Amino acid sequence: MTDQKPSATDGARITLRLTPAQKELLRRAADVAGIPVSAFVLQSAAQAAEQLLEDPSPAALVKGVEHLPTFTQPARQRWESIPATIRQRLLSNVWCGKCRHETTITNFTGTLKGGNLLLLGKCAECQGDVARVIESS
Ligand SMILES: [Zn+2]
Repeated sequence: MTDQKPSATDGARITLRLTPAQKELLRRAADVAGIPVSAFVLQSAAQAAEQLLEDPSPAALVKGVEHLPTFTQPARQRWESIPATIRQRLLSNVWCGKCRHETTITNFTGTLKGGNLLLLGKCAECQGDVARVIESS
């Protein structure tokens, strides 16, 4: 462990621990791009960071197991006012008319309809359309 040198002050200096295979891969990619490996690594990292920060999709905001729900703003507020444990139960006991039993709703969207929260999505088992209405209390 000899590479514990203090960072240079002229910009951040990052020591990367690469496997030989990773090093070779980066070197070849940098060759193709026609830039030094360090510039290539920095550029790629910056690009990835930009994409992550610019992407407004809820993927970056996923909480727990509720993947990618597309909600209108009022629907989201209503949904988030429900305790997480209850939300989980609401999502996992949705009746599927095709399966003829309770199932989990996936890929759902949320809207407010007449004061009630309406979730529209797909059955986790048969991918058929399922819906759940959550009445306002
Ligand atoms: Zn089903």
